[in-house]
Amino acid sequence: MAGRLTLADRLGSDSFQTDKTPHLRVEDPRICVGCELKPCIRVCPAEVYHWETDHLRINYENCLELGACRVACFQMGKGALRWEYPPASRGVQFRFG
Ligand code: SF4
Repeated sequence: MAGRLTLADRLGSDSFQTDKTPHLRVEDPRICVGCELKPCIRVCPAEVYHWETDHLRINYENCLELGACRVACFQMGKGALRWEYPPASRGVQFRFG
C-alpha cells in the first residue's frame, strides 16, 4: 500500500491548461516597487510571484486560483494586483483536491 501523498506530490499531480493571456497582472508595475512587504510573494503556495531586481515577475501559468494573493495585496500590499479566473476550460485542474 502506498504511503500518504505529500503536499508537493499533490501539487505535482495537478495539470494546467494555460491561456495565452495572463489572468494575473499588476495595474501599474511602479506601485509594486513601493510595496514594502510584497505579501503576494509570501502567501502563494505555488510560488507564482518573484521579485527580480526592480520588478515583480508573475508566473501565472502555475496559478492554483486560490485568491490568497489578491487578499494579501489589498490587505497588506498596495492593491496593484488585478486577479481574474482564467477563461472556461483554462487554468488548473486538481487531481487530489
Ligand atoms: S502585494 Fe500587490 S502591490 Fe505588493 S508587490 Fe504584490 S502585487 Fe504588487
